[in-house]
Amino acid sequence: MSRLHDQPLHPNLSADAVVIGSGVIGSSIAYHLSQNGVKNILVVDSAPAAGMGSTSKATGGFRSQFGSKINIQLSLLSRKKLLAFKDEHGIDPGFEQAGYLFLAGSQEELKNLTLANSLQQMTGVKDAMLVSPVDIQKLNPHICMEGITGGSFCPGDGFITPMNIMQGYISSSVKNGVRFLYDCNVTAITAGENKIEYIQTTHGRIYADIFVNAAGAFAGHLAAMAGETLPVTPSKRQVCRIKETETLPPLTPMTIWIDSAFHFRMREGHLILLHPCEPENNENYNIHIEESWMNNVFGIAKGKLPALEHCSVDREGSWAGLYEISPDEHLILGVSDGLQNFYYANGSSGHGVMHSPAIGELLANIICNKPNEIDVDILNPARFQQNKLIEQIPFF
Ligand SMILES: Cc1cc2nc3c(=O)[nH]c(=O)nc-3n(C[C@H](O)[C@H](O)[C@H](O)COP(=O)(O)OP(=O)(O)OC[C@H]3O[C@@H](n4cnc5c(N)ncnc54)[C@H](O)[C@@H]3O)c2cc1C
Repeated sequence: MSRLHDQPLHPNLSADAVVIGSGVIGSSIAYHLSQNGVKNILVVDSAPAAGMGSTSKATGGFRSQFGSKINIQLSLLSRKKLLAFKDEHGIDPGFEQAGYLFLAGSQEELKNLTLANSLQQMTGVKDAMLVSPVDIQKLNPHICMEGITGGSFCPGDGFITPMNIMQGYISSSVKNGVRFLYDCNVTAITAGENKIEYIQTTHGRIYADIFVNAAGAFAGHLAAMAGETLPVTPSKRQVCRIKETETLPPLTPMTIWIDSAFHFRMREGHLILLHPCEPENNENYNIHIEESWMNNVFGIAKGKLPALEHCSVDREGSWAGLYEISPDEHLILGVSDGLQNFYYANGSSGHGVMHSPAIGELLANIICNKPNEIDVDILNPARFQQNKLIEQIPFF
């Protein structure tokens, strides 16, 4: 690869490819680029260490039960890679296949689960199934069954450990010669007519042939520095941890009520409660956990989980982070419309950890002009201007 400029300000700060963001997605991309033979890869991050953005806030759910073909395909490719992860990277990705259990409370919800299940089956998720109230009681005997008319379950879904996956990609990248630079904030991007020339950072200018936007919830902000519109917005998500330990068995499936989107799972010995409702304060990348939200989610949970009767909220152990939402809640993957050396892997809309193995491989192949095993054209960044938003069967 030839350099755009021969004389960078700092000779050590040039690269063939620069990945901006060292969360789980940037790390996966760096690793897969290095596996494709790209030399001189530099990953930069404004934080003092890797994964301090959304990756460290993720609870670590994994599912193939989605309502769009492309999300199911991303999960299937990721599932295959997660099952081989320890052999490839020497680090356990913590993949515990405890299952995801979706609960329907109306005919409409059951209809959507049934449609989604057909799509999952057709796309290759053979272990996803529809379940009756009797099955549900066996799968999760801890919940109140009031109002539940049926559901769906996939035993191949479950839990992963986000920081382990990221560390696996980083350690393999470093072995392949990739450099990581922390406390390196990208503050401006200088682009010519159709290419980025260099990025301005707190470590000086960095010149490269290829630039990758892996800035998570800040991806829209980063793209704007290059004069590009990337419709990724941050959305606060909160997690309420229960103080007592071992309230439920560790491998209780992730259990989700479709009507309210309330869900829970066990994590590191504690029950965690999630309820993705509009936060009181979603401005300015705010990640303060809200007292009102915690009281509300705990109230909902007590009505659904009798085991919570004598439990209490662990305020210090609860946390919030940012989802990176795209307009159709699907990943944006590929080259920018206006700048031919600026690539996006953004807007996973809350599924970025589970899909990170696939995202890294797919984008690295796009950059290196190698064929991909799934057709990802539908995820192209131009779809929003072309009004070609991805549709999905709505259930979660
Ligand atoms: C509460 C919560 C629960 C979640 N649960 C799940 C789950 O169960 N399963 C799942 O798959 N996903 C989940 N997610 C979503 C998941 O965390 C994200 O999709 C994923 O972490 C995105 O990875 P990333 O590498 O793109 O972003 P990040 O991890 O945020 O990394 C982006 C990096 O870019 C850096 N950066 C940003 N701007 C700049 C700049 N200008 N210069 C230099 N560096 C910059 C940041 O410092 C950051 O380190 C959850 C998220 C939250 C908040």
